[in-house]
Amino acid sequence: MKSVTILGATGSIGVSTLDVLALHIDQYRVFALTANTQVERLFDQCTKFQPDYAVMFNETAAEQLADKISTAGLSTQVLSGEDGLTKVAAHEDTDIVMAAIVGAAGLLPTLAAVKKGKRILLANKEALVMSGQIFMDEVNKHGAELLPVDSEHNAIFQSMAGSLTGGLNNRGIRKILLTASGGPFRQTPIDELKHVTPEQACAHPNWDMGKKISVDSASMMNKGLEVIEASWLFDARPEQIEVVMHPQSIIHSMVEYVDGSTIAQLGQPDMRTPIANALAWPERIDAGVSGLDMFAVGQLEFEQPDMNRFPCLRLAYEAIEAGGTMSATLNAANEVAVEAFLNGKIGFMSIPYIIESVMQSVSVKPATSLENILAADTEARDAAESLLIEMLNKTDKMAN
Ligand code: NAD
Ligand code: MG
Repeated sequence: MKSVTILGATGSIGVSTLDVLALHIDQYRVFALTANTQVERLFDQCTKFQPDYAVMFNETAAEQLADKISTAGLSTQVLSGEDGLTKVAAHEDTDIVMAAIVGAAGLLPTLAAVKKGKRILLANKEALVMSGQIFMDEVNKHGAELLPVDSEHNAIFQSMAGSLTGGLNNRGIRKILLTASGGPFRQTPIDELKHVTPEQACAHPNWDMGKKISVDSASMMNKGLEVIEASWLFDARPEQIEVVMHPQSIIHSMVEYVDGSTIAQLGQPDMRTPIANALAWPERIDAGVSGLDMFAVGQLEFEQPDMNRFPCLRLAYEAIEAGGTMSATLNAANEVAVEAFLNGKIGFMSIPYIIESVMQSVSVKPATSLENILAADTEARDAAESLLIEMLNKTDKMAN
């Protein structure tokens, strides 16, 4: 019986993970569930899965959850804050940690699990984007078992027959073909992009996901973060990772070998497949997902990405090129800009504008210490917030 902790249990990935676990209660038990503020949903999950621990990052939410748990007579212990998250992630009674917190908030709890040599199911790509070298060094040092959950990286992993390390050349791999659906604005006229709404940005044609990653998919920053994620996971240089637009999201990514073979993983656009794959690897378990009906799929299309339409993708390649803390800067500026867009403060095309301005305003440091990385994250957030205030003041003046 393996014991599982889910960081970010109330989110889209967290809920899909519980759906898969519910099919295999004879093999997995839920050790801990964590969330930020969604008390009702976490309480329902605790009632159903009876974990040893439940953690709410938000203190008030934790008090509310503790009340409900005690009234219901459940034995789940409630913790709060960063300490609570770290404690359950690193706990000796947990074997597997699903890292599914969104954004930089997931970095420290995920690293805590890495340092205890757990099996890490990595959905929280931002953690790896921020801390790439340190993260991978800690994985190797502590013998953690890192399994990619992001559908593309899970597809690449499967297409590499499950081996992560050693660089591409040693495994006879010429390049990685990272597929991208292009999101909801693949064909929207470019001059209309500045007027699109958060609702339109979150309406992804193929995937049902959390709001932040939905906006990232619409701007293709998600693909940019995934290029960085792939470079660390598979020890690949940026020029060995080619983004291929594939609007149907049936091929989840491919690997091209030196003998001319290209191996792909195909499936429904349903995150339960990569989650089940990472949970059970090297075995296979039912994910509750049906196979593909190739006759219904009919056609698979491929296009080159348009960097003018999607400047965020270009910025991500530039961040890799700049090296050091620049990827942490890119990620932090993006988090601030996406939140401002979701709150209706800025237009969609202000997202790349803010990120690029912040990247130009900071100095790059070596990403060799967590201190430097967290400092770069804070510096970029501050710079993005100041720029945002400047932009909002300007619009106010123009409106008056
Ligand atoms: P979501 O917004 O649906 O859920 C986020 C979860 O994180 C929630 O449980 C929330 O309570 C928790 N959380 C948010 N802020 C927190 C904080 N400060 N402290 C502690 N917990 C916090 O997001 P999601 O779509 O499930 O995505 C989660 C991660 O997985 C992201 O990094 C995303 O890029 C990645 N991912 C998601 C998908 C998908 O299909 N949704 C696919 C691939 C990768
Ligand atoms: Mg993905």
